[in-house]
Amino acid sequence: MGQATRTTKLFLDLGNREEGGANSGKRAYLEETARLLNAARAFYVTFFLAHADKLEEKVRYFSEQHQEERERLLFPNELLSWAESLTVATRAHPHPLPSYNFSARFPDFPFIYRRSVIKDAIGKVRSFLSHLAAWRASGKKQGRPGSPGASNHPTLYDEAFSLDLDEAELHTSPRTCFARLKVYTGAGWEWHHYPVKLSRYFEARWRDPAWEQQSPKLVLHPKTAALHFSQIKHVAAKKVKESKEDPHLVTVGVDVNVKNLAVITVRQDGKIIETLFVSDRGLDRHRYGHLKRIARKQWQSGTPVAGEHSNQQLWRHVRRMNEDAAQVVARRIVAVCARYPGCVLLFERLRKIKTKGGSKSRRMNRRQANQLRGKINRYSRDKAYASGTVTVEVNPHGTSQYCSRCGAKGERFSILGGKRIQAKWGKLFRCPVCHYEANADFNASVNVHRSFYREWHWQPRKKPPPRAVVEAARSLRLQAGGKKLTRGTPR
Ligand SMILES: [Zn+2]
Repeated sequence: MGQATRTTKLFLDLGNREEGGANSGKRAYLEETARLLNAARAFYVTFFLAHADKLEEKVRYFSEQHQEERERLLFPNELLSWAESLTVATRAHPHPLPSYNFSARFPDFPFIYRRSVIKDAIGKVRSFLSHLAAWRASGKKQGRPGSPGASNHPTLYDEAFSLDLDEAELHTSPRTCFARLKVYTGAGWEWHHYPVKLSRYFEARWRDPAWEQQSPKLVLHPKTAALHFSQIKHVAAKKVKESKEDPHLVTVGVDVNVKNLAVITVRQDGKIIETLFVSDRGLDRHRYGHLKRIARKQWQSGTPVAGEHSNQQLWRHVRRMNEDAAQVVARRIVAVCARYPGCVLLFERLRKIKTKGGSKSRRMNRRQANQLRGKINRYSRDKAYASGTVTVEVNPHGTSQYCSRCGAKGERFSILGGKRIQAKWGKLFRCPVCHYEANADFNASVNVHRSFYREWHWQPRKKPPPRAVVEAARSLRLQAGGKKLTRGTPR
């Protein structure tokens, strides 16, 4: 049983008041709120760092499942009550620690926000401590994990937030509605109404009964403010091992490339039953044009000023293009999977690709293309999982070099002006043994299935022996060598 997550954004309408947006003061309230929450979180991060032993404290409990006494760490809720009892003045605990008196430093702080920052702080400090322990155990000198930061996007729990879609005005287009938020105005905490623009897309997702609603987060950017609603869904997906036992298992293989963003092949009973090419529709060229311009501008303006990002508009455009393409391709891949219930989605494990050679703009473009591959991979996996399809990453070695029909090593070529040119970048593939010729990306996509089923070139590798065995063998060999020496030396 696994869990799929998805996030839907809802933008707060902070435009001009005449156009129905909130005034600029309301925007300032949001910033004040985030700032104060950061300060409160920083307070608790220092508090927990000073009490690190409590985070690592183990308690004994009786496990019903295993029918024995076991040890566990304190739960976040237990730590939360403990931290509150030391830092917050209540009737039960009237005197908090003088050095960590939260009530004195943050008067009237809403308890729901306090709990959210304490939980954030526990997560941050725990993760820091475990990284630190791993780093110490590794014995490395460099790369000591930095102390945890305190900024987070504020989480809006029920007592600090409400949104009722049924209150929305029906007759305006787009439908508008108000989100109620408890915000800090600089003087105190107040409830305020923030207009939001609804869309049919958002409403459909919000009302979808298959997904469980989580508390939203407030995400502030220089020009926008949005609520990020995350939802979770429990997914019952078969284990790949079980699926593999089905003799008629359908596998959907994807080969991700630069010009053909995805070549999707569907295989069942050893035969390819469907093929789909998803082209990039000139995205690579388009992006290259922009990057060339960026590279030229960077060259003209010389060394960049530290902390300043140049060509922001162009970069934003390039980023958006990539983002869009990744979403579109992922949707098409998942649409294919949806036609074969119970199928397994196959991707090549992404290689680390170093971009070298060529002009600066080419290198930048290749880096962007690599990022796009990663995005397609990630988005498809998430989307497919939400509908119960599991993704497997297969060994990518040689998928574009071996013949998908007979398994021999082949060559790449292209046809230019009626002539066959053999080259590594060739669009076509040819097998010297069985004389099979095909689109190189298609050939690679078929090989993805071969790699999954461990056919031909993709035999399971023998596991290397554990390190302890290797060392024992080496010391034995050394001893044996030593004996030989002693045997040979006298005379
Ligand atoms: Zn062949």
